[in-house]
Amino acid sequence: MSLNPAYKGVYKFKWENHPFLTLSGLEAFTVTPETNFVNVGERTNVTGSRKFLQLIQENNYEAALEVAREQVEGGAQIIDINMDEGMINGVESMVRFLNLIASEPDIARVPVMLDSSRWEIIEAGLQCLQGKGVVNSISLKEGEEKFLKQATTIMRYGAAVVVMAFDEDGQADTYERRIEICERSYKLLVDKLGFPPQDIIFDPNVFPVGTGMEEHRKNAMDFFQATRWIRENLPAAHVSGGVSNVSFSFRGNNLVREAMHSAFLYHAIREGMDMGIVNPSMLMVYDDIPAELLEKVEDVLLDRKEDATEKLLEYAETVKGEGKRKERDMSWREGKVTERLTHALVQGIAEFVEEDVEEARHQFERPLQVIEGPLMDGMNVVGDLFGSGKMFLPQVVKSARVMKKAVAYLLPFIEADKAKGGKSNHGKILLATVKGDVHDIGKNIVGVVLGCNNYEIIDLGVMVPAEKILAKAREEQVDAIGLSGLITPSLDEMVHLAKEMKREKFDIPLLIGGATTSRIHTAVKIDENYEGAVVHVLDASRSVTVVESLLNKDNQVAFRKKMKDEYADLRDQYHKRSTAKELISIEDARKNKVPLFPGDHKPVKPTFTGVKVIDDVDAGMLAPYIDWTPFFATWELRGKYPEILKDEVVGEEATRLIGDAKKMLDRIIKEKWLKPKGVVGFWPAASSGDDIVLYTDESRDKSFAVLHTLRQQLKKAQGQPNKALSDYIAPEGDEAKDYIGAFAVTAGLGIEEHLKAFEADHDDYQGIMLKALADRLAEAFAEYLHERVRKQLWGYIPNEKLSNEELITEQYQGIRPAAGYPACPDHTEKELIFTLLNAEENAGITLTESFAMLPASSISGLYFSHPESTYFALGKINKDQVEDYAKRKGMEVETVERWLSPNLNY
Ligand code: SAH
Repeated sequence: MSLNPAYKGVYKFKWENHPFLTLSGLEAFTVTPETNFVNVGERTNVTGSRKFLQLIQENNYEAALEVAREQVEGGAQIIDINMDEGMINGVESMVRFLNLIASEPDIARVPVMLDSSRWEIIEAGLQCLQGKGVVNSISLKEGEEKFLKQATTIMRYGAAVVVMAFDEDGQADTYERRIEICERSYKLLVDKLGFPPQDIIFDPNVFPVGTGMEEHRKNAMDFFQATRWIRENLPAAHVSGGVSNVSFSFRGNNLVREAMHSAFLYHAIREGMDMGIVNPSMLMVYDDIPAELLEKVEDVLLDRKEDATEKLLEYAETVKGEGKRKERDMSWREGKVTERLTHALVQGIAEFVEEDVEEARHQFERPLQVIEGPLMDGMNVVGDLFGSGKMFLPQVVKSARVMKKAVAYLLPFIEADKAKGGKSNHGKILLATVKGDVHDIGKNIVGVVLGCNNYEIIDLGVMVPAEKILAKAREEQVDAIGLSGLITPSLDEMVHLAKEMKREKFDIPLLIGGATTSRIHTAVKIDENYEGAVVHVLDASRSVTVVESLLNKDNQVAFRKKMKDEYADLRDQYHKRSTAKELISIEDARKNKVPLFPGDHKPVKPTFTGVKVIDDVDAGMLAPYIDWTPFFATWELRGKYPEILKDEVVGEEATRLIGDAKKMLDRIIKEKWLKPKGVVGFWPAASSGDDIVLYTDESRDKSFAVLHTLRQQLKKAQGQPNKALSDYIAPEGDEAKDYIGAFAVTAGLGIEEHLKAFEADHDDYQGIMLKALADRLAEAFAEYLHERVRKQLWGYIPNEKLSNEELITEQYQGIRPAAGYPACPDHTEKELIFTLLNAEENAGITLTESFAMLPASSISGLYFSHPESTYFALGKINKDQVEDYAKRKGMEVETVERWLSPNLNY
């Protein structure tokens, strides 16, 4: 077994084992058979991170939020928050930070671990948490009475708790003391209080080894054994620990520390540790630890030899400043043809595949046997390596390219062979991006990964109506349907398709994937409408396991039932937990708007009003504005650029990937594959309540268009406004004469012919790469144009000088909110923006019926220049606002409700 380095988050975990996690946290979890481990992020801790402490001290909560966000993006499944520092007001900081997190959906999706040694901070924190939290920690340190009192409070909030192995006599430092304290704590909690045992997480103390002190020699072993004892004797309780402590005496030698952490986790997880505070950048893949180092590390951890510590220290001296380099090795060409094919598949080398397949063909009776034999064997190796986290997505897609080339070469021979009998495969899967949506990178990747695993894929492409999907499914008698969608309206389309499947009496499984989809939405909205199995697939790496379980003859019935039950449970929990938030009326919210006017802000007049076509831009000008981090995410390599290139786990693959990307980017630029085109407009404007009125000219007597914004209705803390985007524009009649801008840009014009060429060459790798790059260029275009707007076209900051990093982190004045994003989730506003800009004619971009933009690599939005303007999340709203908004937009209430369904509080 190896640790699963799927990405920086490293561990995936089995959620059924963790009933203490709430719905809000579910999105972060997926099931993998090989590991059960929850990874707790530890950077939002003032005692552990000097940077975080400084940000809190400086009241820079925006940047502090980024720390939390990075943790979640980096794969943390829980974030530990600690504000225990003499210089700051712990209660206040905790409350403020938690409230900020609550309105950041991409952070709030993981549970919070409230970490404090001060009870009043924990209690204040519990009052803020929206989902289920974890308290870190309580112990018997100050006696039973206090322990029980605190546990009672925690139980009342429904939180889980970390229990330290600590009692009146101090911290447990032997095996016996650990189990004694844990058992006593467990009995008090479970038997006396009725505390749910699955909500108890024991921390049996990770102490350093290899310190040279005799009494520290058994520290790791005692932890492992105590872990096993807890898991065997204290039913349902969990075990956690702070891993980096174990290597404390090897500070300064990261190679040894990383190996120690991985080996420690390897053994601890085997004994049942299922949660831990781990710094993902300080881990090595267990299988990759050099044999000699591993042996020496394990000698120390497992206390196997008298002189283990000395030997490890000696070794540590020799490996300071390790570096590895590889030459291109061609010796594999000398192996047997079957070995060469496996090598080519695993390494993704397409260069020799045709000659090798040709050779193999002569060794088999029938050409089909080459596929069924050596090629499938090779792909199985790829599948196993991928499944166990030893290969990454870009490599798999390259392997698939080799496979496809081989199959394409063999096809004419197979057809000539006549004696068909049909190509054997594991099953047929139909994939489609739903009606109204145009995004398909994720879907294509799933297709490739399933294809590699010998499923036959029928890909209907994008914008596929339900009727067409179902007709094809029937005609081809497929074994499962996979739907994909990026924008929120696609969720409704998926619900519609599920209902149609029921009506037409289908019973094949339905897979759901794509950026806005979620496990909870799938359970609550989709699963309910269809009798067959419905499964949310979080990422491409998961798709194979899910499809295998769904189609496997022996236990598909059990698995499908299990999924049905699981989703029914989720639905139940969802409905039981009253998720309705405390909202205020829209009138009261309006009274609490962002108070900017009247004020000192003097809006700058743009250099022109009306629209201007931007067609003097080429890809070469945009390349420097590219934000590469999301590019890696597309390929399921998580981590921040450029650090990701040095990442212990994915660094090598990330470096190769960006090398390939830059090669293609060069060709895109030199050979002018893509034609960027855009349009920008500015108009005199004023806010009128929550609307923004646009005027035909400076006289401002005639309005010709109205933009509609939505206002936060969540009850806010004292001094926090209920924001709407209209607050950033001076109201009608104000002294300040204000303006608003809008834009639409695309980098997707011209992409089709190149995609076709890659398709003809069976090259999914390059096809997906091109789409991913076009998306990057579109984002870069938006960034570039926004800069040009600030400095020149609107010109409200003519002298701005920001680095690309500062642009990516949006450190400039003003915002460019995009319809469909959290501040303005209503996609239908794009219709007006497109009309204002005449975007179809001016930039070649059209809207689908769900308001997705075509070409897919396009972006649009509004420009606000006010220095106080920021992005925010609308959050939940009530019917009073929906009715008012419908009236303002001249739409039916039900129609508005359909478009805004994720935001409704009812
Ligand atoms: N550099 C990233 C930027 C993409 S997302 C990339 O290359 O992929 C950032 C953009 O999303 C913002 O510029 C804005 O247009 C939009 N956005 C982000 N948060 C928003 C919010 N809360 N409301 C409206 N738009 C938002």
